[in-house]
Amino acid sequence: MASIFSKIITGDIPCHKVAEDDQFLAFLDINPVAKGHTLVIPKLEVDYIFDLEDNLLMEMMLFSKNVGLAIEKTIPCNRIGISVIGLEVPHAHIHLMPINKLHDMSFEKDRLAFSQEEYKDIAKSIASYVSL
Ligand code: 5GP
Repeated sequence: MASIFSKIITGDIPCHKVAEDDQFLAFLDINPVAKGHTLVIPKLEVDYIFDLEDNLLMEMMLFSKNVGLAIEKTIPCNRIGISVIGLEVPHAHIHLMPINKLHDMSFEKDRLAFSQEEYKDIAKSIASYVSL
């Protein structure tokens, strides 16, 4: 069965898209740890990120860098934290989060919630700084 993220790629499940090319998609996390929390996924459905072929993994990291720098321009922060967990959704993804201190990256704290309008504005603003 297709993963939730594959359904996002096909448009069967909506998302607030930030960037896309032929290999990757970036969109806002539905339960953000931080404002601007973005997920980068390969269009190829592979569960474990270290099972990605080396070149694809390298390109995913460069795509994430591009998106991360765009998040940084949108959300004032000290830097963009990167993390890979993958315990919830079995489709490889990189979390990009604007952070100022270590705790900002904690997946154990209460998630944030924004209105659809706010998610839309955040995604649009980040997307405007992405240069693919
Ligand atoms: P992980 O698999 O790395 O533990 O966490 C998966 C992440 O995907 C979580 O932060 C969760 O909020 C996010 N997520 C799960 N389902 C959806 C979804 O349908 N849409 C979006 N945009 N994010 C999701």
